[in-house]
Amino acid sequence: MPILNGIIPFFPSIHNVNLPLMKLRISNEKYIIRCFELAAMGKDSVEPNPLVGAVIVKNGKIIGEGYHMKFGEAHAEVNAIKNSTENVKGATLFCNLEPCCHTNKKTPPCAPFIIENGISEVIISNIDPNPEVAGKGVELLKKAGIKVVVGILEKEGKSLNSDFFDRISPGN
Ligand SMILES: [Zn+2]
Repeated sequence: MPILNGIIPFFPSIHNVNLPLMKLRISNEKYIIRCFELAAMGKDSVEPNPLVGAVIVKNGKIIGEGYHMKFGEAHAEVNAIKNSTENVKGATLFCNLEPCCHTNKKTPPCAPFIIENGISEVIISNIDPNPEVAGKGVELLKKAGIKVVVGILEKEGKSLNSDFFDRISPGN
């Protein structure tokens, strides 16, 4: 085992330590935490909607951020895509709540917009408990060939929107 400056340059074969996986997990959590921070900026103005933030990452750097600012106005995902400083094609979108897919509301649904813009991966914290969405947003994205990861900091996401979760799915 070569040693540089007294530091072992890579983990020797320690059992059950998967460094790439660990790095990926921490990086996903970091961007979801940023979504929480952005989401919190909508406090007091989005009710009865949930607090939602979104971050777009390309080549390891944030190229766009957005949040749901006001009830009846654009959702976080749409704002993040519109605020991006680079083309979002092939980028990863992080969002604390599942992108919506239902049309009987004030704004057009986010999932089709994400698909149209060529996002290749979507990483979320919580599935939307609203029965109109409840996994259908994820299905729509997957059908379009987008890789979807669900459940990053799920507990923290639920506590950020505890009022919303309690109202929509009591006891959950
Ligand atoms: Zn939406």
